[in-house]
Amino acid sequence: MRAITIVPGQAGSARLDQVEEPSLSYGSVLVDTLAIGVCGTDLELVAGEYGWAPPGRERLGIGHESLGRVAEAPPGSGLDAGDLVVGIVRRPDPVPCPSCAVGEWDMCRNGRYTERGIKELDGFGSERYRVEPEFAVRLDPGLERAGVLLEPASVLAKAWEQVERIGARSQWTPERVLVTGAGPIGLLAALLGVQRGLETHVLDRVTEGPKPDLVADLGATYHTGPVADACPQPDVVIECTGVGQLVFDVMIALAPDGIVCLTGVSAAGRALSVDAGALNRELVLQNNAIVGTVNANRRHYEAAAKALAQADPGWLERLVTRRVPVERCQDALERRPDDVKVVVEFPG
Ligand SMILES: [Zn+2]
Ligand SMILES: [Zn+2]
Repeated sequence: MRAITIVPGQAGSARLDQVEEPSLSYGSVLVDTLAIGVCGTDLELVAGEYGWAPPGRERLGIGHESLGRVAEAPPGSGLDAGDLVVGIVRRPDPVPCPSCAVGEWDMCRNGRYTERGIKELDGFGSERYRVEPEFAVRLDPGLERAGVLLEPASVLAKAWEQVERIGARSQWTPERVLVTGAGPIGLLAALLGVQRGLETHVLDRVTEGPKPDLVADLGATYHTGPVADACPQPDVVIECTGVGQLVFDVMIALAPDGIVCLTGVSAAGRALSVDAGALNRELVLQNNAIVGTVNANRRHYEAAAKALAQADPGWLERLVTRRVPVERCQDALERRPDDVKVVVEFPG
């Protein structure tokens, strides 16, 4: 069967490969792949900047944002042939650490977890894949085209859960959320903000392309320009850019008792002049909380599956701005300026 593979650490090694049928060692559920989403992590994998092949192998099958249809599932697995499913990316470390031991592999303490399509396990970017039933999440049948957004949505479901858990430290009734960045992560963060009944503001740099309309059609407000103009005193900020200056600007803008949730990974090495004393004073005197978050566990995938099922499917489908057949997967692995989410489609 065909699979998209790379040699980790080697730029430009991505190709559409012929590989063996999926091994039973990956799980009892056999899935026909429908679509694979491409994100920044995939572009880093393709650029040779990230990724680990399975032990004893040179090439890694990539694709961690997936959507497929169950071809075979054992009785009692909770899945039936024909179900739409998404595979969970991370697997607990073998020790396991206290977090992985209770299924919170997203909070792994020792870094020895593995990840489908990223770290030591083949991904879902093949015509068929296998997965363990407990790592397959069933989707609403109406999500046949947009369900590929579940994995990125799971990251935001976790981010919102973190915000709400921190908010529960006191009587807290947030009204306003600022989302920085209107890529797929920012737009999904905004969707979850709107679904919570919050006044939702989205800040991005671009003035053209699909982003302003996508934000407006969600019932949120689109901004460009400085943070202070976009949303003074937000109760919640979901930061989705990793841009250093913006990260500090949102910390300063935060309302009393406000929470900043950081989801963007910054490039290191860009120094910034910050008045650390003023920032500290602001955070202390306002009871502000800053939290970083990454990855997602099964609880977050399930919350995200519910959120997507409740969203307007037409709006979700518009987040996918390019659909590329697997034969031309190389095109999908190159970023274009007006891309929101790019998806590789498989015959299914
Ligand atoms: Zn991704
Ligand atoms: Zn762990």
